[in-house]
Amino acid sequence: MPITLLPSPFPKKLYQQCLDVQPTINKLMLKIANDSAFIEESLSTIIAVDDFTRNLVNINRIVQKQGLSQPILSCISRSDYMLDKFTDNIHDLRIRQVEINAIASAMSTPSCSARLMQDFLMSKYRIKCPNDTTLPDNNSLEVVAQGLIDAYNSYGKENTYILIVIEEKSFNFPDHLKIELKVHQLRPDIRVVRKKFIDLPDNVRLGPNKELLIDIDKEIAVVYFRYCYDPEHYNFPGAWDLRLLLEQSRAIKCPSINFHISGAKKFQQVLSDRKKLERFLSSSEADRISHLFCKFWSLDANTSTGEEDYEAALSSRSEDLVLKPQREGGGHNIFGTNIQPYLNSLKSSEERSQFVLMEYINSPREKNRLLVSSDTAREDESPTNFADDLVSELGIYGSVVAEGGVIRSERKGGYLVRSKKFGVKEGGVAAGYAGISGLLLIDDPKVSDWSKYYEN
Ligand code: ADP
Ligand code: MG
Repeated sequence: MPITLLPSPFPKKLYQQCLDVQPTINKLMLKIANDSAFIEESLSTIIAVDDFTRNLVNINRIVQKQGLSQPILSCISRSDYMLDKFTDNIHDLRIRQVEINAIASAMSTPSCSARLMQDFLMSKYRIKCPNDTTLPDNNSLEVVAQGLIDAYNSYGKENTYILIVIEEKSFNFPDHLKIELKVHQLRPDIRVVRKKFIDLPDNVRLGPNKELLIDIDKEIAVVYFRYCYDPEHYNFPGAWDLRLLLEQSRAIKCPSINFHISGAKKFQQVLSDRKKLERFLSSSEADRISHLFCKFWSLDANTSTGEEDYEAALSSRSEDLVLKPQREGGGHNIFGTNIQPYLNSLKSSEERSQFVLMEYINSPREKNRLLVSSDTAREDESPTNFADDLVSELGIYGSVVAEGGVIRSERKGGYLVRSKKFGVKEGGVAAGYAGISGLLLIDDPKVSDWSKYYEN
C-alpha cells in the first residue's frame, strides 16, 4: 500500500474542529435514519431513476411497515474532510466536509500502522519534526472495535457472534482480521465469524424469534457490513432478498438499512439548506456543523430549483465543481472538463436527478513524498531527495448505538489520512488514487512558517 514519507501537515485547530463536530454528525445521521418521511421526500427523484437507491429504500419501507424486529440501531461511520484554501494567502485555510461514510468505513488498521511506519521512515532518514508540531495518537482501530462491542453488548445474549459480511476477493482482508483481533483482545468472550455475502444464502436462516442463525445454529448478535454498498455487490440471484432477510432479523445491523441510507450524498445537498438542517438540530448545533459544509446544488429534473441550478452549472467554471452520483467506494464522480459534456447529455433526462453538484474544494499542496512499493527496493536513493506536491483528506471515525432515537453509546476519534498527488481528482487508497499518511499537527499558524509545509 503506498504511504507518504512524512505525516501530513494539518492545522491543529482545524483538526480539533473535525473531532468536535463528530457527536453532532452522529446525532444528525440518527435523526435522518429515523425519519422515513424525510428519507422518502429527499430521495424521491433519485428513486425514480436509480435502481440501487430504490432497492435500499424499498427494504427500509418493508421493515418499517412490518415493525422492526430489532429496535437497536448501530453505525460505524467516517466523516471525511479536506482543507480548503479560500484566498491566495496560504494561512487562510478552513475545513470542508467531503462526505460521510455510513457503511463499511474502512482503513482503521492501516491508518494506525502508518504512524509506526512513518516514525520508522523518519528515523531511518534522520528527519525531525519541527518544534511547533505534534503527532497525535491514533485510536481508530479501537473506536471501530469498541463500536462493534457496544452493539454486541446491546444485543444482551451470551454465546452469540459478530458476523462480518465481506466481499468475494477481499482486498480489505488484513483490515477485517485486525478488527477481529482487536475485538478478541478487548473481549475474548466475543466470537467473530467472517462470511462472504455471496455465500450467505445457503447458510443463513431466521429462528422462531427472528434470530439470525448461520452454520446451522450460530446466533448472530451483530451483522457488520464491510460490503453491500455498491450495485455490483448484489450481482447474484437473491442478493436483495438476502439483504432484506438480514434486516428482518433480530440481529443488530451495523449499519441498519436506514443508517446506511443516511450516508447518501443527496442528504448533504438537501441539508446544505440551513432551514432543512434545523429540522434535526438546534440552531447552535446547526451553526457548529454547517460552516464545514460545501455549497451544493440539486439537479432534480422537473423542479424549478433543479432547472435553475442545472442551467447555472452549465455556465459555471467546471474546475469549481464536482458531479456526484449516489455511490460509494471511489471512481464514480465526474470532475472538471468532463462535467459540461456530461451535463449536456443529461439535458432533457430525468437521469440527472440522481446526481448532486458540489463545490470543488481547493486544497493546499503539501510538500511530501508518496512512496510506492518500487521505492522500497531503492535503498541507494534517499526518498528525501524528491518532493511531491500532495493533497490530503482527513477522516474521523465515529460509532453510535441507539435505541430508536435515543443514543445509548457513542464514540469518536481516530483518524485516517489519505494523500494523493496534486491534480489527481478522485481519491481513495483501495481505488488506487492515494496513499496512506499520518497527521503532523501545526500548533499555531500565526507563528509557523507555513512555507515549510505548503507550496504557495
Ligand atoms: P466516494 O464515496 O466514492 O468515496 P467521495 O465523495 O469521497 O466519494 O469522493 C471521492 C474522492 O473525490 C474524495 O476522496 C476526494 O479526493 C475527491 N473529492 C470528492 N469531493 C470533492 C470536492 N468537493 N472537492 C475536491 N475533491 C473532492
Ligand atoms: Mg470517499
